[in-house]
Amino acid sequence: MKNGKLLEVKDLHKWFELRKFGFVRIGFVRAVDGVTFDLGEGEALAFVGESGCGKSTLARTVLGLYQPTKGEVIFQGQPLTKLGKEYRSQVGYVQQDPYGALPPFMTVRRILEEPLLINKVGHTREERLARIQEVLEEVKLTPVKDFLGKFPHMLSGGQQQRVVLARATILRPKLIVADEPVSMLDASVRVEILKLLRELQTAHDLGVIYITHDLSTIRYFSERIFVMYAAKFVEKAGVRELIHNPLHPYTRALLEAIPDPDPKNAETLKDVPPGEPPSLIRPPDGCRFHPRCASAIAGLCDKEVPPEFEPEPGHLVSCWLYRDGKAS
Ligand code: SF4
Repeated sequence: MKNGKLLEVKDLHKWFELRKFGFVRIGFVRAVDGVTFDLGEGEALAFVGESGCGKSTLARTVLGLYQPTKGEVIFQGQPLTKLGKEYRSQVGYVQQDPYGALPPFMTVRRILEEPLLINKVGHTREERLARIQEVLEEVKLTPVKDFLGKFPHMLSGGQQQRVVLARATILRPKLIVADEPVSMLDASVRVEILKLLRELQTAHDLGVIYITHDLSTIRYFSERIFVMYAAKFVEKAGVRELIHNPLHPYTRALLEAIPDPDPKNAETLKDVPPGEPPSLIRPPDGCRFHPRCASAIAGLCDKEVPPEFEPEPGHLVSCWLYRDGKAS
């Protein structure tokens, strides 16, 4: 961690109640089930995992949009519960669907002016316009005058996501949470948007949580990667270490699933784990990956939850294969 801690998340749980007929409780969906991590100032951290593994719920709980069921989120040394509205101006949110995230009947200028008005930034229209122009230049929507009066439907997907980035950064937050920010964009603009996010992060020393199901885009972005499966982290490592030396069988499967650009390998069938991710209402005992894992140890993996082992310095994995410090 290059600077001080920006965010600490301790043993975070977010369970949703399931009710029958609207009032009889029949169980819980354990969307986030005991997650701990911290993020340094100016650091980019990626969460990766299949759809439905709890990444987006984790992001929304960190943003303060959901109350944790258990555990704590601490921002710059203060529990979120004590920060209230002040926290909202310190955090920017970049959603997956830029068109859905932008109000359709507002111009770009109005969309960007709204957070300034709500947070009383800029005393006059001219001051607010100057700030809007500055942020549009930063996200490379230039010439700025061509974009100020446009509505979201008049922009391409990439331009819409630049407006979302401008709105997320206009208050100069300390933290950006980007939830699948490029998954709905054309392949040709994905890297451009990620590079732009990286530039903004570096220029303003932003902490960034980047959420994705696509490991192939992560190398452009984050310093550390945390792999999530069935509401828990299963592996945590630096980006190079994780990509070149994946330890958890699930991480290896995710890396295997990245499409191979070599046309010679286009017909090669990938060796992916069988089955589907487990139900988060009744997750399996022991390691949650054991029903799909070819390396599962009978009598252990299906009974005992693996703790976090550290076979390499800074490389943590929740898998019984590493109980002696290296793969057994
Ligand atoms: Fe597979 Fe067991 Fe490791 Fe889980 S703990 S990933 S089941 S080997």
